Amino acid sequence: MSNASDSDCISQNTDTYRVGGWGRPYFSINPEGHLEVHPNPNGDCRVDLYQLSQQLEARGLSLPVLVRFPDILDHRISRINGAFAKAIEEYKYGGRYQGVFPVKVNQQRHLVEEVVEYGRAWGHGLEAGSKPELLIALSLMHDTDGLVICNGYKDLSYVETALLGQRIQHTVIVVLERVEELDLVFEASKRLGIRPVLGVRAKLSSKGIGPWEDSAGDRAKFGLSAAEIVLVVDRLKEQGMLSCLQLVHFHIGSQVSNISTFKNALREATRFYVELFNMGAPMKYMDVGGGLAVDYDGSRTDFHASKNYDTQEYAYDVVAAIQEACDRAKIPPATIVSESGRATVAHQSVLVFDVLGSNQIDYALPNAPEEDAHSVIQELYETWSQVTGANIQESWHDATQAREEAQSLFKFGYLSLRERARVDRLFWHCANRIAEAGRTAALDRPGEPGRDPNFVPEEMEDIEKVRSAVYYSNFSVFRSAPDTWAIDQLFPIMPIHRLNEIPTKRARLADLTCDSDGIIDHFIDKDDVKDSLEVHALKQGERYMMGMFLVGAYQEILGDLHNLFGDTHAVHVRVGPRRRSNGASEPPESQTSNGSELGYHVEHVVKGDRTDEVLSYVQYDAEAMVERVRHRAEDAFEQGNLTLEHMGKLMEHFEKSLRAYTYLSV
Ligand SMILES: *Cc1c(COP(=O)(O)O)cnc(C)c1O
Repeated sequence: MSNASDSDCISQNTDTYRVGGWGRPYFSINPEGHLEVHPNPNGDCRVDLYQLSQQLEARGLSLPVLVRFPDILDHRISRINGAFAKAIEEYKYGGRYQGVFPVKVNQQRHLVEEVVEYGRAWGHGLEAGSKPELLIALSLMHDTDGLVICNGYKDLSYVETALLGQRIQHTVIVVLERVEELDLVFEASKRLGIRPVLGVRAKLSSKGIGPWEDSAGDRAKFGLSAAEIVLVVDRLKEQGMLSCLQLVHFHIGSQVSNISTFKNALREATRFYVELFNMGAPMKYMDVGGGLAVDYDGSRTDFHASKNYDTQEYAYDVVAAIQEACDRAKIPPATIVSESGRATVAHQSVLVFDVLGSNQIDYALPNAPEEDAHSVIQELYETWSQVTGANIQESWHDATQAREEAQSLFKFGYLSLRERARVDRLFWHCANRIAEAGRTAALDRPGEPGRDPNFVPEEMEDIEKVRSAVYYSNFSVFRSAPDTWAIDQLFPIMPIHRLNEIPTKRARLADLTCDSDGIIDHFIDKDDVKDSLEVHALKQGERYMMGMFLVGAYQEILGDLHNLFGDTHAVHVRVGPRRRSNGASEPPESQTSNGSELGYHVEHVVKGDRTDEVLSYVQYDAEAMVERVRHRAEDAFEQGNLTLEHMGKLMEHFEKSLRAYTYLSV
């Protein structure tokens, strides 16, 4: 293969998988045709994901593996904070920005620790949506002026913990989501003699759109209506505690793909802020919630898998709206808080998995039928042998008609099983040849006047459906990407090697579960979605590895144990030398092992679940299971049904499987 054609293929594949859209600035294809990660886009360290996956396997971490890149997280946090800093400076806004990370989006300890570490310089804090998450926030935040914001349903112990937390972590803000929580606040505050810092979550009339639209509006689960907010103000005043109320919060839902939705919500929310200030509350924080979207399909549109704005534009709009409201009301500029979860952590995780096989057999090219072969076979063979770029549609019609005819002939006993199989094989070859002819014809007329080079007859889509294979993949949708199943969310998916070859097949991806929903048949596309993905033909004896990208938000914790597939291994790959436990740094580890300087190292390894661990979640005791099977085996041995050798093998398999990773080994 010449270099020129390699680079042509690479640029074509960059386009096919839209890497230049969703992948920028972290992912690209390198000259070897491997997917490459730039964990720190400002530096020059590059991680060859295919090579890394092989090195992980050499360490005994078999696929599937979730690879996290803390440097990407660092870059995301800087990006959000940098965007607000820039907007504040350009607009000469008098207030500051203090973001928080909503822990619910990804609670893994290593990750939250990294958020705190990278956020320290920016005063970036944490948001808790439940008592367990508050415990995480209080235990991990130290040496930082970041905020702790407490949302979600609260009981007395949640509120008391928050108030006490104020004494070790200076700003803990309790956001009232329901009026009844006020009584808990009064009680806790009296009991402990600590004055709380309070916020209210406003139920806006402006709604989001898309899958999360019900997070705001009259039907929203959380938030106080205008009437309830006034009630809260009056009751706080009665108790002499109006000075505790300092924050207004709203959250219009996740993945807000249209910037105008934010603008509307901001207009309304800042009115709450100003009015509360004028009613006597010493307002200080305007919290604009989450919703900052991720461009999963790279289209930069308001399609639900995308967004029609960037982080900088978002920051400009938020700062401008709040500045305008405060200026107009002649009140001090608010400290701006945002709670971006998805946009902070989605990019830093990649799930790498391998394909175990395909449902498609590549049948040998058909031979000319014998004189006495059934006429339907003769016709189909003729169709196949006469396909050209000029008769694609006609050939396709002839082929489908012949196949339908063959199916009904078989049903009524006029065609044998062998004959029907021959028709199926011929039909499949017709589809391939027609698709190929279509592609060549499209390439041959790029500039033909009045003709769209991307035009494909509608039937061609049916052809791709017929041609599309199922690739069996070593992961569980329910464990690793539950939102693809629950809400049809799209994630970019692509092979991580052989990208210097043009993929010649189309496939849907079936997971390991025996659930017919455990299949991915929606993929990102230029516009809308496609129902199969371009993939390479599998090669005998060679692994085929793929990556699912931007999976760092929500997927890990929403995932479940369907069919008892457990947590995958997770590794943290960080740029720079490894820090020794004594504080000194080591050269990057691959330098010591093979002399090549890679510039990154594996920092944490979180082993995935073993089968016995997963079984214990559903109350099985592995030891007891082994005992029971051993008893059965002894019985069978006594009855002469099992040899000692087989008993030994059975017990070995049983015990080994209990200690093994729940995924398939290849
Ligand atoms: C879930 C949630 C967030 C995070 O939203 P993203 O869309 O992931 O940024 C922020 N705030 C609250 C109150 C939430 O419930």
